[in-house]
Amino acid sequence: MILRRCDDYDPDRIRAIIGESMDELGIKPQGRTLVKPNTVIAHRLFFPHAFTRPEFLDGLFGALKERGDEMTDLSLGERCGITIPTRYAFAEAGYPKVMRKHHVRPRYFDEMPQVRRDLHMEGRLRDYIYIPEAIAETEFLVSAPKFKAHPWTKVTFNLKLYIGIQDDEHRLIDHDHHLHSKIADLYEVIQPKICVMDAITAGAKTMLTPKPFPLGLIIVGDDAVSTDVVCTHIAGLDPRDVDHIRIVAERGWGSLSLDDVSIEGDVTLEEAKGRAKGFELSLDKADAQYNGKSNLKVYVGPPPDTYDYCWGGCPGALTEAMGIIGQMEDDVENSIKPIHLVYGAYRGDIDVGQGEKVLFIGDCARWCGKIGGKDVDIPFLYKERKLISPERVHAGDLVGKILKFFFEQIFAVGKRVIRIRGCTVSVAEMVLNLSWLGKTKNPYFDPRIVFRFSWHYVLAKIGRFFGKLRSPSAIALKKPPQQTPE
Ligand code: SF4
Repeated sequence: MILRRCDDYDPDRIRAIIGESMDELGIKPQGRTLVKPNTVIAHRLFFPHAFTRPEFLDGLFGALKERGDEMTDLSLGERCGITIPTRYAFAEAGYPKVMRKHHVRPRYFDEMPQVRRDLHMEGRLRDYIYIPEAIAETEFLVSAPKFKAHPWTKVTFNLKLYIGIQDDEHRLIDHDHHLHSKIADLYEVIQPKICVMDAITAGAKTMLTPKPFPLGLIIVGDDAVSTDVVCTHIAGLDPRDVDHIRIVAERGWGSLSLDDVSIEGDVTLEEAKGRAKGFELSLDKADAQYNGKSNLKVYVGPPPDTYDYCWGGCPGALTEAMGIIGQMEDDVENSIKPIHLVYGAYRGDIDVGQGEKVLFIGDCARWCGKIGGKDVDIPFLYKERKLISPERVHAGDLVGKILKFFFEQIFAVGKRVIRIRGCTVSVAEMVLNLSWLGKTKNPYFDPRIVFRFSWHYVLAKIGRFFGKLRSPSAIALKKPPQQTPE
């Protein structure tokens, strides 16, 4: 793999660096080529550092096209996060101009048929999953993530990018304490032929509202596991401590040892680590993050199975939701009205002041005791994983969630205890609950978001309607060749 220095977003320089790296690795795009960026969320004002930058994609598209005599199609595909339409995120990220320049086709994974793929590897969570038609058709996958920290999974590089290949109803299945294994399941479906990472301005601390960190690198590899192993070392972690990287490697897709990676380029690993000094990660559990440092009081119990904390589910959504509200409201940790949040099988007391609300979050929350002098019994509503069928899941869109939320608030008037159902409870739902109950600004109603969002929401609805009417194309249905680790 190759570490190259690049301190600014100059598309020509980026194109040259990526092109030289491809030549050095002997990689040329072939057939139907799809670039998968990290566009989990994008907005010029509020989320400027959460996504792979358009200048980076400009350079990447240029490098691919210069070597594209065997490439039959070039597209950019993604399913962004928190149930917003991907076409809105693409527009806010500034991608359409770059796509037009290079004649790149947008593939919105939320507006197309989903295709079943069987899984075979030992340790899999499920025997089959659903992926978008565009991924099923892809012959040459280009992974183009942003180098970022992540409160659920510690880091998000090439492997974590895989969560963005599923549409919401399938993405939210197993997006809990099994998240790391889910990533390994998705990796079985397709592996990137090249990994090209935007580490020019990295994203520290969180993944939706990261702090910009000038890392000044472009990282290119021919294999997602070894590229992620090197990036994890750069971020100051041991890859054995990042569960999804460890699990993918243990399933036979690569090695966790640096001895098995040859690193070329004009930056050594030690220099790259030096550049990343001070890169903030988010490794604390939710109670450690907020108790005593904010008006939130968080009570954490274990989720089901043998896990002690649900790293892939509801607690991480709190961090991101607070980050989003914090983009609109200064010092949100202290301006938010006091709220108590309870996760998992918490067994201790809940000490609630006059007029304060208690939220029991997620289906696995359970508790029995007194709140405000009244008996409260929160039952365990968690459904066994194997009872959840991908054909029967439903994930409402954002407008549906907003309407449902305000309808539920009518019945919650005067109640001190509120149960939020779901496994997982999404970031979008957490934003709604925290902003409403905590009396902060609600980002969804900010005029700098709402009008442009509404326009793209309508377009996405139309696209989704026609997309879901179609059957998956013959190409997508064709059984792919069996893919196993070499
Ligand atoms: S309900 Fe939330 S905290 Fe509980 S297992 Fe599901 S995702 Fe994890």
